[in-house]
Amino acid sequence: MSKQEGTVVIVGAGLAGLYAAQLLSSVVPRVVVVEASGEVGGRVKEIGGLVPWPLQLGPEFIHGSDNSVLMRVINKYGWGTKELEWPDRYYFADDKTCCGGENETEDVKWVHDFFDGILEAEGAEGESVRDVLVRSGATERQIEIAEVCYANDFGASLKRMGLPELKQEKLRWNYGEKYLLLDRPLSRLVERLAAGTDVRLGWEARAIRRCQVVDREGRSIDCDAVVVTVPHRILQDGDIDFEPPLPPDKLGAISRVSMSTAVKVFLIFRHRFWPESFWDACCPFGFLPEVWATEYDSQGRAETGAAGGAAIVGFACAERAERIAAMPEEEVVRASLAQLDEMFASRVDPKPATSAFESCHVKDWSKEPHIRGAYTFPGRGAREGDRGLLGRPLGSLFFAGEATHEGVNPCMQGALETGERAAREVLRTFRVRAERHQTKL
Ligand SMILES: Cc1cc2nc3c(=O)[nH]c(=O)nc-3n(C[C@H](O)[C@H](O)[C@H](O)COP(=O)(O)OP(=O)(O)OC[C@H]3O[C@@H](n4cnc5c(N)ncnc54)[C@H](O)[C@@H]3O)c2cc1C
Repeated sequence: MSKQEGTVVIVGAGLAGLYAAQLLSSVVPRVVVVEASGEVGGRVKEIGGLVPWPLQLGPEFIHGSDNSVLMRVINKYGWGTKELEWPDRYYFADDKTCCGGENETEDVKWVHDFFDGILEAEGAEGESVRDVLVRSGATERQIEIAEVCYANDFGASLKRMGLPELKQEKLRWNYGEKYLLLDRPLSRLVERLAAGTDVRLGWEARAIRRCQVVDREGRSIDCDAVVVTVPHRILQDGDIDFEPPLPPDKLGAISRVSMSTAVKVFLIFRHRFWPESFWDACCPFGFLPEVWATEYDSQGRAETGAAGGAAIVGFACAERAERIAAMPEEEVVRASLAQLDEMFASRVDPKPATSAFESCHVKDWSKEPHIRGAYTFPGRGAREGDRGLLGRPLGSLFFAGEATHEGVNPCMQGALETGERAAREVLRTFRVRAERHQTKL
């Protein structure tokens, strides 16, 4: 393929790559996005046909609405969002009790206070958040609440989490606490971002040699800059051969930053058996640490063929996800239904989940061949500043993707922000070069 001045190759068609491509396309002569899988969107994925709206296999909620590129994009398209209260309620599977967000138990309050005051917490290098909690006098019950309410949400377990990045995240989180749901499936966002972009699907980058990107079949694209947005695990596993090799400080950060595993269990029912007001529960001591019910308005429903039905999503990360992923599906169904039966039992129907059950779909993110996990989290071995090292450009080589966000923000807006940052860095480099050679970009 012949080289065209001002060509940028973006590796990965997730939110970071697509947004960087959209921003660069209006300024740079040629932008090509190469994507290893057969579809755009990366971790934004959905499954249709189970209920009358597509179910989100990956991200689902918008975390925070202030200072958010994601909200800027959503508002630009004129789309709406629905605000949710999170967590809606807690279900304690050990003693089968429940409490709402407005009447939290003393243990729940203790855990919230601990995480609110995390900046004051002290820990030795390499110490886990679980160790810090134990040292602070947390009981086993408080530790379990912290596991399902905080660690699971971070995509981790307390044993795998460390203080430095947890503090970094706390300091840099400036999006507010709102929990929002887009009024349509997230695939619409991906479609809009990808529109008009030259995306090569089934094009798996295996080598980046200065300014040439080569795929596993030996096809190559010459270019002036490369933006790498692949998931962190792909870099950790050494899928891409860099020439010149990545420097030791970047390699060190790649090895220290952790990426989680997650499993989503989709339980499909003939009808809704939970109260209409219910949408989410954190479940200490439960088989599924968090469960929720989501649906979309007419925007999402109109185009799927399925009729009737209702769905509950179970979400588990780290060791719990690994355990569920290793179980036969019948066992996952049995344990999930037992939990939901206990949560929603009534005198009329003591096993409402079992009696309404239709089907189950388990999504194990560690098996996604080009992603191999869920998202990065404040890991035990990571050091402050590691994310900055992950995102630092090397000559004509630029890095984006959720793992490279300096605020340790693995959310959708975090991914978009890194795409925006990388696009700015590419343009700055091109302008400097153009000025040096007195050419017009
Ligand atoms: C289960 C789950 C739940 C989540 N929940 C939420 C949520 O509720 N809210 C929220 O804000 N965020 C959530 N997230 C996180 C959010 O999905 C991510 O932060 C975001 O989508 C990451 O975008 P990205 O562009 O950085 O990476 P990706 O979307 O992973 O894109 C990278 C792309 O690179 C491709 N690729 C890999 N290797 C190569 C190669 N060698 N050559 C070419 N292409 C390659 C991959 O196929 C992929 O398409 C969730 C994620 C998961 C998995």
